[in-house]
Amino acid sequence: MGRTCRNICLRYQADPVPNKIRYEIGQKRCTFCGIFMKDCDTRCICCKAVLRTKPRSKKKE
Ligand SMILES: [Zn+2]
Ligand SMILES: [Zn+2]
Repeated sequence: MGRTCRNICLRYQADPVPNKIRYEIGQKRCTFCGIFMKDCDTRCICCKAVLRTKPRSKKKE
């Protein structure tokens, strides 16, 4: 509710790299906006959704 992609995230979009090293180099994924971001806090600056910091194939911590 209230989550909207305003395309602000595009300014923070991470550089294109192989997916398997995305998380290793600190990129975070916003599942709502559907992009990887860099230089971001724990929440997406665009839609405020919590960013994913680890591959979902692995369990938390
Ligand atoms: Zn967005
Ligand atoms: Zn977002």
